[in-house]
Amino acid sequence: MSPQEKQYDVHSLTGQFCDAGKELRYRSSIQKRVRFESRLALVLVALVFAMFTITDYSLLGLSREYFLLLTMRISVISLCLLLAFTLGRWGGYSRNLWLHGLPLWIVATGIILIVPLRPDSLSTQITAVVVAIMAFYILIPNLLTVAAVACIYLSVGFLTAAMAFTGISPADLLRIALLLIMANIVGYCALLRIEFLQRKQFALLHEERDQNNQLHKEIAHRKSLEAQLRIVAERDALTGLDSRSHFMKRAEVLLKRSRLENAPFCLFMIDVDHFKSINDTWGHTRGDWILTKIAEACVQSLRPTDVIGRFGGEEFMVALPHTSPTDAQIVAERLKKNVATLPLTEEMGELVMSVTIGIAVAQAEDVDLDALITRADKMLYAGKHEGRNRVMMSQEGIA
Ligand code: GH3
Ligand code: MG
Ligand code: MG
Repeated sequence: MSPQEKQYDVHSLTGQFCDAGKELRYRSSIQKRVRFESRLALVLVALVFAMFTITDYSLLGLSREYFLLLTMRISVISLCLLLAFTLGRWGGYSRNLWLHGLPLWIVATGIILIVPLRPDSLSTQITAVVVAIMAFYILIPNLLTVAAVACIYLSVGFLTAAMAFTGISPADLLRIALLLIMANIVGYCALLRIEFLQRKQFALLHEERDQNNQLHKEIAHRKSLEAQLRIVAERDALTGLDSRSHFMKRAEVLLKRSRLENAPFCLFMIDVDHFKSINDTWGHTRGDWILTKIAEACVQSLRPTDVIGRFGGEEFMVALPHTSPTDAQIVAERLKKNVATLPLTEEMGELVMSVTIGIAVAQAEDVDLDALITRADKMLYAGKHEGRNRVMMSQEGIA
């Protein structure tokens, strides 16, 4: 048996959860309903008790016994109504159980007290006791143990009172005892079954809720994993710029939109000059740091609408939508200047970084980025050839 199943185990005699915490949770869950039903039962019991004053009168007339009975009935009715009020205010079912058990004891005492006051109507009282036992077990909401103890008190009390005040024969007393035992067994079994089924239903509901919660947690976890994966796929780990593939996707969209809007579009291919010697002189880690600084300088030189990505190694690409060749030249020069004025560490002394930028201007026939990349690359290599640290634009931009 799994620990979870054990937690939902119901005791075969008390009909309660074996796990005390679980039992308490179950009772709190039905507390509101039980409180309402307990109060309703109390009011109904008070009404039934009141109605019997009529039969008392027809049996006893305005005798001393009648007034004694009336006093007893008024006491029981008042106590029932007082308890109904108390239960409404303080009758927590999960902990103040005794408050819910008290009505049963008051009603039982009232029924027992009728015997010495109306000894002639014992046969009707037997029926009343059997009905009360059934009601205690099945109709009045309470725990099996509480109901069982109150019913045993009622049965034993009634038998004792019948023996003491009615002069009943031992054989008749035995018959009544057997009848009450039977009523108790039937009531006990019925309530045990009800308690068991209600708790199983509660357990199943909770199991389902737990599984739902687990599922929600799992979904949230997967979503966060997906988000992390997306970040890994879309971002360059070193510089935080767009990865090559993500840049290509975004730049393609921008190029298509520019074509639809008939707006100018330019593309930069940027390569850091002599970066190999930086690595060789200052080490790879310092080289990495410089790359991040250059990436920052690039981002600061661009407009929010431009898209930049790391193409690989020490190469970057920029897509500039709605940008004329003249504006692209201005942006590229600003970028080149920002890289050149990058503040580096003291140990690097007078080291000045530089980049070469190749610019391609989109033409009507450029349906995708490939041709543009090739032209920008050509311009970049031309720039390298001419001595680096410069901006080179393809012929169509100059024309
Ligand atoms: P030029 O472009 O001016 O012709 O010279 P270069 O030295 O920059 O050119 P090359 O392509 O030969 O060298 C690029 C160097 O960039 C080689 C490689 O070690 C370095 N590099 C590429 N990726 C990284 C990186 O992520 N971190 C560091 N520290 N270095 C890198
Ligand atoms: Mg280089
Ligand atoms: Mg290179």
